[in-house]
Amino acid sequence: MKTRTIAILGATGSIGTQALDIVRRYPEAFKADCLTACGSAEKLFELCRAFRPGVAALVKEPEEIPEDLRSIQWFFGPDSTVRALVASKCQDALCAIVGIAGLDAVWHALDVCERVLLANKEALVTGGDLVMAKAAATGKPLLPVDSEHSAIFQCLQARQGNPVKKLLLTCSGGALRNWKKEDIYHATVRDVLAHPTWNMGGKITVDCASMVNKGLEVIEAHHLFDMPAERIEVVVHPQSVIHSMVEFEDGAVLAQLGMPDMRGPIGYAMGFPHRLPYEAKPLDFAALGHLDFAAPDHDRFPCLGMAIEALKAGGSAPVVLNGANEVAVGAFLREQIPFGRIPEIIRSALDSVPVRAISSISDVYEADRRARECAEKQLGMRNEK
Ligand code: NAD
Ligand code: MG
Repeated sequence: MKTRTIAILGATGSIGTQALDIVRRYPEAFKADCLTACGSAEKLFELCRAFRPGVAALVKEPEEIPEDLRSIQWFFGPDSTVRALVASKCQDALCAIVGIAGLDAVWHALDVCERVLLANKEALVTGGDLVMAKAAATGKPLLPVDSEHSAIFQCLQARQGNPVKKLLLTCSGGALRNWKKEDIYHATVRDVLAHPTWNMGGKITVDCASMVNKGLEVIEAHHLFDMPAERIEVVVHPQSVIHSMVEFEDGAVLAQLGMPDMRGPIGYAMGFPHRLPYEAKPLDFAALGHLDFAAPDHDRFPCLGMAIEALKAGGSAPVVLNGANEVAVGAFLREQIPFGRIPEIIRSALDSVPVRAISSISDVYEADRRARECAEKQLGMRNEK
């Protein structure tokens, strides 16, 4: 494999640092030449010392850049990620920023990079039609990093032009899977951050507990694989060993399995079409003994249904769902609202922000602004805590 240059956008996060583990392991295959983050300057400095990128960016400008890192070309401010990406001329971009804040980077990566490795699902939830159209127009691969979508993408390598009947997205069920409805309402930040199978950033861990994450992933799958909502099924599978499945017209179901470790799907996207000989913990079927499956419980976890409803409504509805969720999750993590307010805030935003057509990225930001305004109004209106 020839060395490829890669920009790690969101380098200090859960996905970013795991991608850098892979770079560390294969120094001849990858050069991380652009590292970006929002505010964790000290962590980014450490990564810059280890990987010596040509370019780096921090949204929040630090007091000063350490002496030994001044030869790096630095960018600061709200658009620093994109400016750094453009300056770096990296061949690949791993988009691992959390939230709609990562949409701009995905959009520009499709202009300036050869391939886009996509972890930032919110970019597709909000700008999916536009991003997919741009990927098609430029002919650039958009390689999924989200484990379910990577699994489906891997299963589809065996498609040989045959039509797909449906996609089956598996789901761990999150930290509150076995909780009673009334207890879920009052789950604390600590309860929710104890995810059973994956170790991830705060926002996505909360999203897993509310199951809005699976809803965002249904929307993501719809865009990536051009599949209507009706042909995407969610299956709760607590062990997270089957990462997702594809059903074909003859009833055959292909699945991709492995121990839960995000370095699997991250490495698959980075190396594609080559599989990196990463020493993942092997699956031991005899030790596992059994795999469990269940239908999602829409009564206890209403966010999944709301996301599917937003996908079916189309236009700005998924942007509104996402924006309201980002505001609600932020407030929950700051312990300003109980967990049970998250679905209520999303519901109210979907009910009160009118659905508009989306024909440009600025339409996306306008819908996001309206959703946030609505969600923030609800936070202010009630005496939370
Ligand atoms: P994280 O919170 O651990 O890291 C987020 C990164 O984005 C950090 O480097 C942060 O500095 C940067 N960032 C945050 N806000 C920013 C902003 N406004 N501008 C620029 N940079 C900003 O998040 P994560 O868990 O690594 O998730 C990243 C993305 O990958 C999310 O969209 C998530 O849904 C998706 N994803 C994560 C996992 C996982 O296992 N963590 C799995 C599948 C998909
Ligand atoms: Mg996932």
